[in-house]
Amino acid sequence: MIQLFIPLNFLGFVYREIRRALTDLENMLGLLEQQPTVEDMPGAPELIVRQGRIEFARVAFGYRPDRPVLRDVGFVVEPGQRVAVVGASGAGKSTLARLLFRFYDLDSGQIRIDGQPIEGVTLDSLRQAIAVVPQDTVLFNTTIRDNIAYGDPEAAPEAIERAIDMAHLRHFIDSLPDGDQTLVGERGLKVSGGEKQRIAIARVLLKGSPIVVFDEATSALDSGAEQAILAAMRSLASGHTSLVIAHRLSTITDADRIIVLHEGRVAEQGTHQALLDQAGHYARLWALQQEQEAQAGQIG
Ligand code: ADP
Ligand code: MG
Repeated sequence: MIQLFIPLNFLGFVYREIRRALTDLENMLGLLEQQPTVEDMPGAPELIVRQGRIEFARVAFGYRPDRPVLRDVGFVVEPGQRVAVVGASGAGKSTLARLLFRFYDLDSGQIRIDGQPIEGVTLDSLRQAIAVVPQDTVLFNTTIRDNIAYGDPEAAPEAIERAIDMAHLRHFIDSLPDGDQTLVGERGLKVSGGEKQRIAIARVLLKGSPIVVFDEATSALDSGAEQAILAAMRSLASGHTSLVIAHRLSTITDADRIIVLHEGRVAEQGTHQALLDQAGHYARLWALQQEQEAQAGQIG
């Protein structure tokens, strides 16, 4: 009995690990239908993350040779910084994240993490070092606690409690009929988009990867939900290097730096205030979104 139980349990663990990695990435990047195009270089060493500094150096990339998406993109995310990437739809924001995970190799230039070019290290170690908060988090048909613990199936109870607090989920969980034992997912309790993102943040906090990519939800949330996510994001940002793919500029006004992608290049970068003062692309995007939010507010 015991002998049968252990291997099955172990297989279950491996299966969950693989599922977790896949669902989050697929979800974020829409990669389901894609073939792997990259592989480890023979004898590639593992990535060693000391501080979590990310550097894009003269990165050029197109999905097809005749259609460049990124022409010459350079920026640095210093260890522990929260840097946001903004730009019109189709500007290449999600592409940046895909390239950081090395789903494609570059046409030219280099991406380095703590000085190590990502094409020179193993894919496993690269992807282990980076956690994703996807746009739309998948919940499994189990308890909310198990959904959170999914970030690290072997997490200690105290670690789970801490992640719940840091992700600002305590109040939500306390309001549920069965607390953290409440069943969620397709066949359980309906969970809002904002709560799902905080569950994703709790998972990432448990996973403990030094680098976090946050793909922000596209649709507007009510301001209570937005404030809760912002607070959770701040917990996540401290102690991690984070790259936020931002759709709603209102959530990244306090980022250490904002990078504005336009026509395949970094058109502007700086803090929210510095970019507003420049009265360029960012200032125009900001004015447009303020207007849209005001209109949505009138209708809703
Ligand atoms: P953003 O996230 O800023 O909206 P993306 O990075 O998703 O933009 O896309 C940048 C450009 O690359 C767009 O023109 C898009 O149509 C194109 N693109 C994205 N994914 C693919 C793909 N798998 N194959 C071909 N073109 C793609
Ligand atoms: Mg995108």
